[in-house]
Amino acid sequence: MKNKEIALRIFKTQIRKYFKEILIIFLFVILTASMTALTAWLLDPAIKKIFIEKDKTMLVIIPIAIVLTFLLKSLGIFIVRMTTIKVAFNVLKNIQVLMTSKILVSDLSHFIEKHSGKFISNFANDTRILLGTIMAFSLSLIKESFTLIALIGLMFYQDWQLSIVAITMIPVAAFASKKIGKKMQKAASENLDAFGNFTKFLSEILKGTSIIQIYQREKEELKKFSEIIDDKLKKEKKVEQTRHRAGPVMETINAFAIAFVILFAGYRSIQGEMEIGQFVSFLSALMLAYQPVKALAGINLTIQEGLTAAKRIYDLIDQANQVVQDDTLKNLRILKGEIKFGNVNFIYPDGTEALKNLSLNIDGKTSAALVGLSGGGKSTILNLIPRFYNLTDGEILIDGQNINEVQLNSLRKNISLVSQDIVLFDDTVKANIGYGNIMATDEEIIEAAKKAAAHEFISNLSEGYETVIGEAGVKLSGGQKQRLSIARAILKNSSIILLDEATSALDTESETQVQNAIQNLIKDKTTLIIAHRLATIKNVNKILVIDQGKVAEEGTHAELINNSIIYKKLYDQQDLNS
Ligand code: ADP
Ligand code: MG
Repeated sequence: MKNKEIALRIFKTQIRKYFKEILIIFLFVILTASMTALTAWLLDPAIKKIFIEKDKTMLVIIPIAIVLTFLLKSLGIFIVRMTTIKVAFNVLKNIQVLMTSKILVSDLSHFIEKHSGKFISNFANDTRILLGTIMAFSLSLIKESFTLIALIGLMFYQDWQLSIVAITMIPVAAFASKKIGKKMQKAASENLDAFGNFTKFLSEILKGTSIIQIYQREKEELKKFSEIIDDKLKKEKKVEQTRHRAGPVMETINAFAIAFVILFAGYRSIQGEMEIGQFVSFLSALMLAYQPVKALAGINLTIQEGLTAAKRIYDLIDQANQVVQDDTLKNLRILKGEIKFGNVNFIYPDGTEALKNLSLNIDGKTSAALVGLSGGGKSTILNLIPRFYNLTDGEILIDGQNINEVQLNSLRKNISLVSQDIVLFDDTVKANIGYGNIMATDEEIIEAAKKAAAHEFISNLSEGYETVIGEAGVKLSGGQKQRLSIARAILKNSSIILLDEATSALDTESETQVQNAIQNLIKDKTTLIIAHRLATIKNVNKILVIDQGKVAEEGTHAELINNSIIYKKLYDQQDLNS
């Protein structure tokens, strides 16, 4: 995207709707600008009437007029500022909502490629810079341009020849500002990247503190972090230094403008062609013009910086998703819940070939277990059913309907998942279980917890179902977390149930209880269970041995224990261990 396109897009999608506010800003900017020019103009009659003609009424009127113009000017500035703040913060909010809504429907593959810390930097830093730019746009660009126009207007009114001498410096200032602006764009982009690295690293060390401490890597981590901070500092400094390059350049240009004006005006005064009042008024307009010129020279840099941030924001917002809800498709209709994989190939975005021409068939309302060495592709199989990823090749059918050809909502509505990495929110126990069904009553939540053998430990928590469980459930044990996530799945009561090592963190006693719960849960449902301990899956209707992305063996426990190679080996090994 080009700078112009980005700017236009921000205007069309974010700014234009604040039409009323924009109108107010322009009205009061015009008021402020004319008052500034009026102040300078008043010096002309002040000198002529009071000091030269000794007019006593003017001695009263002009000071009052000056106070009034300043009052109106500050009122104008105040209203412009307040309105700008209102618009800019609303835009910030809208963009952050837009980014969030985008992230919520993002393909999972985007998250593999980008660290969560970088998303946080997108949210925190890029949007803050964009906010600053929008404010500067209104408070500097619009306000100062109008002020400059009013002052130049006054200068031309007082003396057009002298004005031409003075404004020849403006193109020089614009050229210098553009040069510095190019540098700014590069500096800003590097700075934002460095900030992304910074948040990424920070989130890693926060998550990994215990591991860092036990492996005693505090020093190394600190050293790495110091380097990242150094780098960030360097880039930040570059941005600030670039920003302040404009200052001295503009001062010099302004000095030349004033010098030329005095030279030219003085010459004409000596010739008797210019009055003193006119000259003072002109010179003060010129000096007042310095502030807008300086601000306008700096605004280019701020805009470059803001556009760089906006570009990163739009890169996120525009990220194309492959897995999307499409309302024109049919809804999935569950009859028995038969699941069929036909010649499925799947390659992860990084190129890992996880499934190779895999076919399998699970009858409706039956249970199947996936077993095999880790890395074989079991979790991948599960994750493809709710379309967390799109297949590379082949098809998955549920009751004869291709999952790519039905509405995503209707597909996911019918699937419960207890994943290997348990996801809990920093909320109450009740809310975490209730996540499975927004409509669930308290009684239904307690019922689900009982079925998942979680009711007892929940009742023993300090505030029972109202206990807040901390970030990712830090206040709970591994087994407790698993039982909460099972309760959540029980509550959803869907026709297809996917369990990825759902009981691996349970002790033998609660595992027996949960096994009973799972037996209740999966009755009359189509279930795929990945189980580490083979003893827990003897009751399933079918066992599939997954090895290197393929179904290597298939059958019931009794069949496999007699006729298989891999399964028998796995089983014997576990027998030895237990
Ligand atoms: P299992 O659940 O049987 O242990 P997985 O389905 O998790 O196996 O993994 C199958 C293969 O896919 C492995 O080689 C693993 O390294 C790879 N894999 C798993 N998840 C990802 C991912 N997000 N990106 C790239 N490769 C992955
Ligand atoms: Mg796995």
